[in-house]
Amino acid sequence: MSAMINILFLAAEAEPFVKIGGLADVAGSLPLALRALPFQPAHEDAFDVRLVLPLHRAILAQANTLRPVAEFLVYRRGGNIPVQVFQTSSGGMLVYFIDGAPLSSTPSVYSSDLASDCEKYAFFSLAALELTRHLDWQPDIIHANDWHTALALYGLRSRQSTDPALMHIRTVFTIHNLPYMGGECADVLSAYGLRPLNDAYLPGWAQTQPLPLGLWAADAIVPVSPTYAREILTPNFGCGLDPYLKTRTNCITGILNGLDVNCWNPATDTTLAARFNPDELPVRTINKIALQKALELKEDASVPLLVMIGRIDQQKGLDITFDTLRQMKDRTWQFVVLGSGDPTLENAARNLQADFPDCVRAVIRYDAFLSHLLYGGADIFLMPSRYEPCGLAQMIAMHYGCIPVVHSTGGLEDTVQEGKTGFLFQEAEAGFMMEALERALSIYSAPEKWQRLQQNGMREDFSWHRSARQYADIYKSILSD
Ligand code: ADP
Repeated sequence: MSAMINILFLAAEAEPFVKIGGLADVAGSLPLALRALPFQPAHEDAFDVRLVLPLHRAILAQANTLRPVAEFLVYRRGGNIPVQVFQTSSGGMLVYFIDGAPLSSTPSVYSSDLASDCEKYAFFSLAALELTRHLDWQPDIIHANDWHTALALYGLRSRQSTDPALMHIRTVFTIHNLPYMGGECADVLSAYGLRPLNDAYLPGWAQTQPLPLGLWAADAIVPVSPTYAREILTPNFGCGLDPYLKTRTNCITGILNGLDVNCWNPATDTTLAARFNPDELPVRTINKIALQKALELKEDASVPLLVMIGRIDQQKGLDITFDTLRQMKDRTWQFVVLGSGDPTLENAARNLQADFPDCVRAVIRYDAFLSHLLYGGADIFLMPSRYEPCGLAQMIAMHYGCIPVVHSTGGLEDTVQEGKTGFLFQEAEAGFMMEALERALSIYSAPEKWQRLQQNGMREDFSWHRSARQYADIYKSILSD
């Protein structure tokens, strides 16, 4: 028999409201893909997914359709904190925004001050949990994402045994980025009335950090690719939690993120200079020339144009790219990096441009418009991430006919196929990357072969279709346990 399953989906960021990285793409598109299920069989369950976000100042600045829906208090030692909840609708889905002093006091989504972020997201998580008592709608499942929302699951677990209103709720925790655990926050936990955990399996240092507490509390744990799900069980990628995660393997399922193919569609993308489908690849050249012109690079369709787009962070291996390109200085190429983040790496990008003013552009900012043109006009997408839980950028690149050259790790390994849709290298080091880039460049000089790679990538199914169904199976299985 079919049923309606209610899911409260919590995230720190989501398209189209606020975006820092891939989490926003996922939180903006997975809930909608779940709501669009069932795809075919009419007898299957349906999912009423509702999204909860912090009312970041950036959202407040653009929102004029917010409707107040609830007001309540969240317990905090020294004085309970008033919460205001607003509601809007996006793509037919209800979205709740939580506001209160810990959120309104900081302008950015994330800051470099872990202690203040911990306070802010502990408040958000516990307010989101409390919200379930103030709606005429009850979630069957709370689905949290990354450390920012992990304490909703821990709070739920701590209160469930004594609170009949919460007893039935099951939980899913998606790991988008394991190393970011939220930091030591024993004081914040105790201030919000969360009792310390005492579990012999979870290491002591982890028992006061939000992400491990969320893992501990979750009924199902979802790393964002099958390879990453295996990697986090090893000391190299497990960040000290691998022994604990090994005790939970029967709750762990790797599920690849999908793309919002309505938003990312080269055939309809109005931000491109020219739209194209896999049978019209020569049209892409118009985008490449538009890019070269906009960035004041030599306008030449034959020069391979390499790009990187992403958060400028150690994880993403920009330094590896810079070393590789310096070693390949005698080859002909152009390179554009678009991103912002770590000031040291940002400077390394600027230095590369200063040393190669004719062929390097370091665009240090967030620029959604330029990112589309880069995906739709550049030839090669570089992604030498040291680790990559899933990675969306390489999928967007393939979808736009831009061939990825990637470190064979996590979701990169699961989505890029050597010699068919891209090129992989085994170690995150310049020597290995150079060999893969050389392989790519040698095919680039054979346009017919290159076009085949582009077409292969563009014809891959990166939509949410299959992954949303896998999440649906997990929801159903934890509800029936
Ligand atoms: P992560 O989640 O680790 O940040 P992903 O590859 O999963 O990396 O997703 C990154 C997303 O953010 C992609 O949609 C990418 O295009 C976008 N992005 C990252 N940095 C920028 C930027 N500076 N300007 C525009 N888009 C960006």
